[in-house]
Amino acid sequence: MTATNVHRFTSRKSRPCPMCKKPSTEAFHPFCTKRCADVDLGKWLGGNYAIPAVEPADDFGSEAAKLAENENWQSNDSS
Ligand SMILES: [Zn+2]
Repeated sequence: MTATNVHRFTSRKSRPCPMCKKPSTEAFHPFCTKRCADVDLGKWLGGNYAIPAVEPADDFGSEAAKLAENENWQSNDSS
């Protein structure tokens, strides 16, 4: 039968929880519990990840302001 094959496949697929190194569960893969999954999510939301998401938008805004300033100068000059 293929029972041994199935067992090998599943045991190879499950990796330890990256948070606490306990065996991960199917429900919260790759974590062991919802708590560990939430801790990892909090790291992404509250950590450095939020900063680079804001910076490009700010840079783009100042770039547009420069362009608007340039147009003002040109129209001033022609009149
Ligand atoms: Zn864990």
